[in-house]
Amino acid sequence: MTASGEFSLIERYFRRPAPSGMLGVGDDCALLSPAQGCELAVSTDMLVEGRHFFPDADPRQLGHKALAVNLSDLAAMGARPLACTLALSLPRVDEAWLQGFSEGFHALAKEAQCPLVGGDTTGGAPGVVLCITVMGQVRRHQALRRDAARVGDDIWVSGTLGAADIALRLAQGRLPADAARLKAALPFLQCPTPRLKLGRYLAGVAHAAIDISDGLLQDLGHILKASQCAADVWLDALPPNPVLQGLPPEIRQDALLAGGDAYELCFTAHTRRREQIEILSRQLDLPLSRVGVVRRGQGLRVLDADGQEIPVTRRGFDHFSDNPDHG
Ligand code: ADP
Ligand code: MG
Repeated sequence: MTASGEFSLIERYFRRPAPSGMLGVGDDCALLSPAQGCELAVSTDMLVEGRHFFPDADPRQLGHKALAVNLSDLAAMGARPLACTLALSLPRVDEAWLQGFSEGFHALAKEAQCPLVGGDTTGGAPGVVLCITVMGQVRRHQALRRDAARVGDDIWVSGTLGAADIALRLAQGRLPADAARLKAALPFLQCPTPRLKLGRYLAGVAHAAIDISDGLLQDLGHILKASQCAADVWLDALPPNPVLQGLPPEIRQDALLAGGDAYELCFTAHTRRREQIEILSRQLDLPLSRVGVVRRGQGLRVLDADGQEIPVTRRGFDHFSDNPDHG
């Protein structure tokens, strides 16, 4: 890419007026002013064509999703977005692709009040590579850290689970074709909603939180490991997405427990917060389900309605050294 080509691309597709009090695209660095008494929360994610998204992914949806998954990390920390940066490697200059991508990106950036304030643009790699950094702010000592779960905490999950997983299986032909189900499930995979409002309300209310990107069991496992606790999860309490209706029980169970790309929040809170969390659920018009309890010890059990442990095939317990399946 020639230097002049690069600059005009940035001007056209990525430069937007920065909010007052901020210096955005165009200088050597962006300048931000976090509020007093706040900590800066920073997270970076890289998305590689062919690995994290299909080469023929709709660019507008990709622009949305690439930012959404990063904003989800801010939500899981209880942080309010401040600004983001975008590093982009493009195999060729495709104006229609850039137009769609930047529209999807900026639309969500605007909605989430997370302006794009800088980045880098280059070529050379055979596919598109995206690297997004989000910065947010959270009141000191209120961030929802993974190591903050306590024995006796309730475990909660926002929204519903399983839809993105089913969409991916259908799209990849790992489930028998079902056009109606795919149509209902795809928006959950392509257009996740970062739970920013929920995360902000939970800061100072909940203890630990994580966003469900790799599956509930695996992600809750990160909280348990960091907090040195165990947990019971009640299968019947998990909130199934309506698209799971009518699927074989083992697929349903696997989508609920191990399905990725959900971008819902899993969080733990003291039992005396129940009423407050139920009120919050009504205020946000977002289901918040109490799905388990944090216990002393190590490991994670899934229990049926009778309190019997359910064997789980796909656990995603890579990080638990006591799991014989995954070392
Ligand atoms: P530098 O040589 O300092 O790295 P660049 O020429 O790469 O500067 O970028 C010029 C300006 O455009 C900088 O402010 C940079 O942050 C911004 N920028 C470059 N690429 C992007 C992008 N993809 N999205 C947003 N801002 C970008
Ligand atoms: Mg640069």
